[in-house]
Amino acid sequence: TQSLAELDPELAVAMGQELARERDTLEMIASENFVPRAVLQAQGSVLTNKYAEGYPGRRYYGGCEAVDIVEDLARNRVKELFGAEFANVQPHSGAQANAAVLMALMNPGEKLLGLDLAHGGHLTHGMRLNFSGKLYEVHAYGVSKEDHRVDMDEVRKIARETRPKVIVAGWSAYPRHLDFAAFREIADEVGAYLWVDMAHFAGLVAAGLHPSPVPHADVVSSTVHKTLGGPRSGLILAKQEFAKKLNSAVFPGQQGGPLMHAIAAKAVAFKIAGTAEFKERQERTITGAKLLAERLTAADVKDKGITVLTGGTDVHLALVDLRNSQLDGQQGEDLLHEVGITVNRNAVPFDPRPPMVTSGLRIGTAALATRGFGDTEFAEVADIIASALIGGDVETLRTRVSKLAQDFPLYEGLEDWRLL
Ligand code: PLP
Repeated sequence: TQSLAELDPELAVAMGQELARERDTLEMIASENFVPRAVLQAQGSVLTNKYAEGYPGRRYYGGCEAVDIVEDLARNRVKELFGAEFANVQPHSGAQANAAVLMALMNPGEKLLGLDLAHGGHLTHGMRLNFSGKLYEVHAYGVSKEDHRVDMDEVRKIARETRPKVIVAGWSAYPRHLDFAAFREIADEVGAYLWVDMAHFAGLVAAGLHPSPVPHADVVSSTVHKTLGGPRSGLILAKQEFAKKLNSAVFPGQQGGPLMHAIAAKAVAFKIAGTAEFKERQERTITGAKLLAERLTAADVKDKGITVLTGGTDVHLALVDLRNSQLDGQQGEDLLHEVGITVNRNAVPFDPRPPMVTSGLRIGTAALATRGFGDTEFAEVADIIASALIGGDVETLRTRVSKLAQDFPLYEGLEDWRLL
């Protein structure tokens, strides 16, 4: 019966510190978001107590009547949201979803073709130290040197040469739409499966503001916690013919008992993602990123050798290109941290600086759109970022950030974890 604060004050203080950080700073890490209170409630619930290995109606434990309802709600909602034939909502994370996808579609030693990590791909798409790089023979396509976009002729050429078992389309740092229909054509031509990892842009797809990969791909994986705005976790969608293999790859292939509290939280998030309010929020997310890209390509910024990759964005993020600037990625990240804006440095394609330093910044607008930011606020935050990167006065900029943070309160009334 003791509360967290009473039982473990040391931990409660650290958690309170995180709540304060989220409130007082502007969160612009492109893979982050703020979950609504209903998601926190589901996640912080007694469902964490329940073992439910297996799937609804076919469990290896007794007492699963209630959690079966929960998992069915989550599965049916996400299928409807994305128009998918099959869904598995058990992956604990995006990386685990991807591990299950690869386990279902290929055998160790077979060939995987994905976007180069250094050009915006994800670790699980074949990075050397990741399970994907260790288990499979990895080949990569990149973006073109001229316009920094994925060139489908190049993808076709590499696919013809390598004849991969699986082609993955998806990214962690890329500001444009991918051509899923063209990926499908190439996969068909070389006899490969097409897997799309929509972790970053799933919220935009759910809102109908980004082309959907679902009609084109054999399998689609995603995280739930980025633009989709739900709890930290993963999911898999697919054509029905892959259902058995995917279910078996998740459990018992990769995981034991599902996190039923997290699945409940996903069900809430999928419900929200089908609403008009959610769509309106995704619209503000994209407009915000466009305003940011516009400001970061203005003359005063260009004069300092700073620009954004591809000259703009179609999604929820902009990639700042610092290759011709005195400022490197690490310095840029630190500078924005000083003014109260959290971003991450990110290697850009053909980056001359080392990976711990980089020549890029990845800046996303999803979390601030959830906080309520619209055009006016995004224009202001874009100007703060541009000013910081070109040497504006840190104290003045910090004051402007504080004003925005105060004007858009976060988790009001949530002073203590007992209020969950
Ligand atoms: N796939 C993509 C494209 C991602 O960007 C990420 C996260 O950064 C993941 C998968 C992995 O998600 P998680 O961090 O939940 O394992």
